[in-house]
Amino acid sequence: MFFNPTMKHKALRKAVRMFAETEIGPVARTIDREASFPWEVIKKMGPLDFFGLQTPKTFGGAEMDSISYAIVIEEISRVSAAIGLCLAVHNSLSIHPIVRWGTEEQKRQFLPDMVRGEKIGAFCMTEAGIGSDVGGVETNATLDGNDYILNGTKIFVTNGGVCGTAIVFATTDYQNPRQGAAMFIVDRETPGFIVGEKEDLCGMRANPVSSIFLENCRVPSRNMLGAPGEGVTVGMETLNVGRISIAAQALGIAQAAFEDSLSYSKDRQQFHRYLSSFQTIRNYLADMATDIDAGRLLLYRACAAQDSRNSFREEAAMAKLFCSEMARRVTDKAVQIHGGYGYSKEYGVERYFRDAKVTEIYEGTSEVQRMIISRELLARRV
Ligand SMILES: Cc1cc2nc3c(=O)[nH]c(=O)nc-3n(C[C@H](O)[C@H](O)[C@H](O)COP(=O)(O)OP(=O)(O)OC[C@H]3O[C@@H](n4cnc5c(N)ncnc54)[C@H](O)[C@@H]3O)c2cc1C
Repeated sequence: MFFNPTMKHKALRKAVRMFAETEIGPVARTIDREASFPWEVIKKMGPLDFFGLQTPKTFGGAEMDSISYAIVIEEISRVSAAIGLCLAVHNSLSIHPIVRWGTEEQKRQFLPDMVRGEKIGAFCMTEAGIGSDVGGVETNATLDGNDYILNGTKIFVTNGGVCGTAIVFATTDYQNPRQGAAMFIVDRETPGFIVGEKEDLCGMRANPVSSIFLENCRVPSRNMLGAPGEGVTVGMETLNVGRISIAAQALGIAQAAFEDSLSYSKDRQQFHRYLSSFQTIRNYLADMATDIDAGRLLLYRACAAQDSRNSFREEAAMAKLFCSEMARRVTDKAVQIHGGYGYSKEYGVERYFRDAKVTEIYEGTSEVQRMIISRELLARRV
């Protein structure tokens, strides 16, 4: 298999890079330091299709192929991983399940506002007691006439503080939560949908990751995505798509860390020589570039698999596993190359280092990715 970016992909990368550097670059460090969400920038992104990257054109989206989507997430994350995260969760975890499992009525009701960026999407699966193992979901959905009443607490909800539409994982069967698992589309204005405090995080600080409290939150039963009992399937297949965007995000962070390190090594002198003249530093740069290229190839393979067939679980898990661990290795080396300055907020690499770490945790930890990959390997006929 050989991946060569087309002219269309190259032009897209150039345009997104220019937007990211011009519009996000000037505020990227401040929004991280102040943990503030840049509404002014987000408002400019709506008309440019950022909030409907792969959504069908009939609903106002750009209907991009997966490699184009990965390029956009990579380029935005290269400048601000927290904004990359906002787009990744909105497009992959919130819009995608509506496009994939939604009824025509659900699509018409929810997609247009989301695609315009007027309602940012969130995905509410994690609870205090359920993380890697989602089968024991405790948020309860009780049928009452034509509505379900949701009660429970979701934690670590990306975009939680600014979301307009949330995809909520719950169970209709408290005794057998997995069997009764269901996914709901919930509008933020629904009474009983309460946004909690923003988490004080190590990285991704510009994203308002928050808790969501569901207190007798009455949701019409027509807002269920898929059939009752299909919640785990909807959730897991949505996360397959999400993993491609997290791999792209990790790749963007690593690319930024590499570029800063290359340039710093050509500026900084010690022992009357540029750092770039020391073979040890050259080895670091060579390892970083090789790691990044390997990650990019795995990512584009996963994108090609997503566009060509239904099952791409293994490719997505490998891309997410490799790119997130690669981003941790690359950002670690970037801090090392910058020496003491790498540990200071004066330079960007400490932000990349903090942001990279969480890509190994959300949307399935590295341990979970290894479980998925090994399960696929063992299920294969030799
Ligand atoms: C910044 C941020 C944003 C997030 N955004 C969202 C979001 O938008 N929506 C959402 O629903 N969630 C979100 N999450 C939650 C995230 O998906 C979970 O934190 C993640 O799935 C891990 O769950 P946990 O934290 O409960 O860890 P646990 O599941 O408790 O795992 C703890 C450790 O044990 C390991 N472990 C667990 N089970 C096994 C096993 N069987 N074998 C080997 N090792 C195992 C894990 O890999 C991990 O190392 C976010 C988290 C963060 C930090």
